[in-house]
Amino acid sequence: MTKLTWFRLGGRARYLFRPRDEKQLSKLLLCTRREGVPVKVLGAGANVLVSDDGFDGVVVRLDAPAFKRVLQDGDRCRVGAGVDLMPFAREQSYEGRTGLECMAGIPATVGGATRMNAGGAHGEFSDVVKTVRVVSRDGTTEDRPSDVLEFGYRRSKLDGLIVTSVELELPDGDPQRTRNRFDEIMAGKVESQPIAENSAGCIFKNPPGHAAGALIDRAGLKGTSVGDASVSERHANFIVAGKSATASDVIALIDVVRERVSKEFDIDLEVEVDIWRPTTQGSLVLWRS
Ligand SMILES: Cc1cc2nc3c(=O)[nH]c(=O)nc-3n(C[C@H](O)[C@H](O)[C@H](O)COP(=O)(O)OP(=O)(O)OC[C@H]3O[C@@H](n4cnc5c(N)ncnc54)[C@H](O)[C@@H]3O)c2cc1C
Repeated sequence: MTKLTWFRLGGRARYLFRPRDEKQLSKLLLCTRREGVPVKVLGAGANVLVSDDGFDGVVVRLDAPAFKRVLQDGDRCRVGAGVDLMPFAREQSYEGRTGLECMAGIPATVGGATRMNAGGAHGEFSDVVKTVRVVSRDGTTEDRPSDVLEFGYRRSKLDGLIVTSVELELPDGDPQRTRNRFDEIMAGKVESQPIAENSAGCIFKNPPGHAAGALIDRAGLKGTSVGDASVSERHANFIVAGKSATASDVIALIDVVRERVSKEFDIDLEVEVDIWRPTTQGSLVLWRS
């Protein structure tokens, strides 16, 4: 999984499945459910930390052409889950469509951004999502309106479902303004985040009323390391992995940070990154049927 995640960490997956289309994906899900094989879906791997022991199941990647289609119809746009979000957001913003400027600097596929409701101070992906097409564990496909998906801060009601495409509403705006806004947000990210290093973005969610990065900084943890994983000097809510880091280093450092912040401020930091770790039985399970 080192090749498929932004952290460049993690052991092997037993199977990597790259379905040709939705029909093949449905068949796989039915089959894995029947056989009791665990399944996980991976987007760009920008918010996932895979354990050093890897994943004893099927990892699904939606990188076939069928999942990379973009169908534009006025201000509505159906976008495949495998579409690389940042270039798409840049293109739309440069053409004067509004709503995706806030995705500047966020590495993601459309599927991963939907599941995580990616975003930040400038807006969230769900702001432009109208419907989400999903495949369930039993292989059935369905279009779900965004208002039943309970989008919130880095969360959605999409657990156990695989997003295959989303319908977005991107109203026309002033191309100069949308372009400038995208570029400004991008420049802000480049300046404040260690984007060239191996990480998964913000490692913790912001607790209500606080910025996790500010708490970590105030606790004096910038630069703290375990093995070759360290708290970024540039942005305290980023853990960056050096060349010889392991997933275990990152997990141990997460614990160090949580403990110190809890001791200093009596605040429990919640991890934002999806950690794929073995269960106590030694296998990883996404769906239990
Ligand atoms: C440098 C850097 C900066 C970042 N900045 C931000 C930021 O500003 N704001 C922000 O919100 N995030 C940020 N992130 C985190 C990350 O970009 C987002 O969480 C993004 O949405 C992850 O998308 P992905 O395709 O990489 O998903 P992955 O990391 O591959 O997966 C994330 C989760 O989504 C699930 N998933 C993936 N694809 C699908 C699918 N098709 N259907 C259902 N579930 C799926 C996975 O199983 C997993 O649980 C940053 C990360 C990095 C490395």
